[in-house]
Amino acid sequence: MFKHIFSPGKIGRIETSNRLVVPAMVANYCTDDGRATERFIAYHEAKAKGGWGLIITEDYAVDPRGKGFPNIPGLWEDAQIDGHAALTKRVHNWRGKIFAQIYHAGRQTNHNIIGTQPVAPSPIACPVNQEVPHELTVDEIKELIEKFGDCALRAKKAGFDGVEVHGAHGYLIAQFLSPYSNKRTDEYGGSFINRTRFAREIIANIRAKVGRDFPVIFRISGDELVPGGRNIEDTKAIAMMLEEAGVDAIHVSAGVYGSIEAVVPPAAVPHGWITDFAAQVKRVVSIPVITVGRINDPFLAESILASGKADFVAMGRASLADPEFPNKAAAGMLEDINYCIGCLQACIGNLFKNEPIGCLVNPLTGRETELAVKPAETRKKVFVAGGGIAGMEAAIVAAQRGHEVHLFEKTDRLGGEFILASIPPNKGELDAFIVWQKRQLAKFGVQVHLNMELTPEAVETEKPDAVIVATGGSPIIPNIPGADKPHVVTAFDALSGKTTIGHRVIVIGGGMVGTETADHFANHGKEVTIVEMLPEIATDEEAAVRLFLMRDLEKNKVKIYVNSPVKEITDDGVIVTREGREEKIGPADTIILAIGAKSVNELENELSGKVERLIVVGDALKPRKALEAVEEGYKAGLTL
Ligand code: SF4
Repeated sequence: MFKHIFSPGKIGRIETSNRLVVPAMVANYCTDDGRATERFIAYHEAKAKGGWGLIITEDYAVDPRGKGFPNIPGLWEDAQIDGHAALTKRVHNWRGKIFAQIYHAGRQTNHNIIGTQPVAPSPIACPVNQEVPHELTVDEIKELIEKFGDCALRAKKAGFDGVEVHGAHGYLIAQFLSPYSNKRTDEYGGSFINRTRFAREIIANIRAKVGRDFPVIFRISGDELVPGGRNIEDTKAIAMMLEEAGVDAIHVSAGVYGSIEAVVPPAAVPHGWITDFAAQVKRVVSIPVITVGRINDPFLAESILASGKADFVAMGRASLADPEFPNKAAAGMLEDINYCIGCLQACIGNLFKNEPIGCLVNPLTGRETELAVKPAETRKKVFVAGGGIAGMEAAIVAAQRGHEVHLFEKTDRLGGEFILASIPPNKGELDAFIVWQKRQLAKFGVQVHLNMELTPEAVETEKPDAVIVATGGSPIIPNIPGADKPHVVTAFDALSGKTTIGHRVIVIGGGMVGTETADHFANHGKEVTIVEMLPEIATDEEAAVRLFLMRDLEKNKVKIYVNSPVKEITDDGVIVTREGREEKIGPADTIILAIGAKSVNELENELSGKVERLIVVGDALKPRKALEAVEEGYKAGLTL
């Protein structure tokens, strides 16, 4: 089915079994002095086992001052080689190919991470880290060029099959390449030839140390997508220079920290959106080109390869969501692929908190050993109350371990509130996770009872060994005058289509649910106003998701009132307190309540002391994001 994906590829002298690449993604699993940990190794090993043609690790710092995150790997000294050799050995045991990405963060880091002032071609602060860097002297530049070469040599000694030089995303090499960040007037700045000198000298140094045969990829942003940054024409010219300099492949990405939504695009960004940049680079070089960017499906990858736009397809978050993606695609098990849904909650969300990354749809990511599903010693009868994503996850894992599992859902469908969460713009891919969970329930023999609520009587009669309560949450109705009027509805009811929404809408509550609900109705032609008591809206969204959401609200002329607690709901609007004064906002035909949820968990009290194991998970325990719900469900299934 996927003849282009599963044809062998070649980068330099290295042959890959297929065209699927895991690109570098910072995982934060190493020690703070850049040593490999078992967690780091097991994470990559899972991908090798899953059949990826090439794994490119996250950025190995060439110098401790070049770290952009606290727990990334490093090969800045020989003592680090052995630990990373253990990684390459484990990947090679599965016949995988692994390249080390090597980099220096330059100005895209800060004091807290490196303990000193960042460095850069010019003393201009990164718009995200906001720290003015030290302007590198020519001697310091020469020293760093040596460090790149030394790091590549250590990678070779550690058994890597090649290196990828990170010249993308606004890190140090990219800072030199771009007039956006390079304002030098010496031989490393000013003209195009001078700005490319640092990159070219790095490649020459690497080649001198590792030899002509050791494969070297260069990663570059096709367009930096910032005012004054490089565009695709610059990139094409640089790619030609790099081929001439001895690079074996070009990996085309996009963006810098100033356009962070391009580096880590949320679901609002179209699939394969960078591929046309890759195609343009491919026209001017004869070495292989790798593309990347929101590609999460084998059909997309096959189409890109078949259309000749790139030679390899890198799929980062798809590999977090399902490290077995290539093996499943090759076997035609397409319904078993756990697809990345573009939520950013555990990958980028954790990364921006400088924490180890995870994945909402795959709690095993980064905890391959700790959370491995193993057969249960004794087969138990397990009842799960609630068919939302937490309950389904618990049921899947318990059944996978060999238990007899019954899942009770009081409505006629599985998915719970996640179904509604998928309704607003750019959220449609969330459904893919529900579809995957339903497929796994069937695969592992979970007996699903729809339109059936689990009752204490049923538990008493059937005597399960364990009950998992995953009964979710229900919307909070505020205790204010007018909340019971007929034109007042909850966001849940509004999104589910249970009620007709008038043309003029006020949404009370500017959190994730309220803002996305407002966005949905604004996109469907309604006049929408958001009223929020806090100073900002959508602060619980991931940064890149929020960026697109706010743009959409602006485009749709959604009115936003912040610092405006609602005192009363009237027949045609709301009365708020703003700056100490009461103010009427309206007119409105429908008022939508989105001020949060409360747990629904009566079953916990009713079953207390009546069943051997009773576990409460997800919103039934405490309303939070889907990430926590899925993880708790998974762990509940694991503990039985
Ligand atoms: Fe994809 Fe969300 Fe998992 Fe990140 S956390 S890899 S965006 S599904």
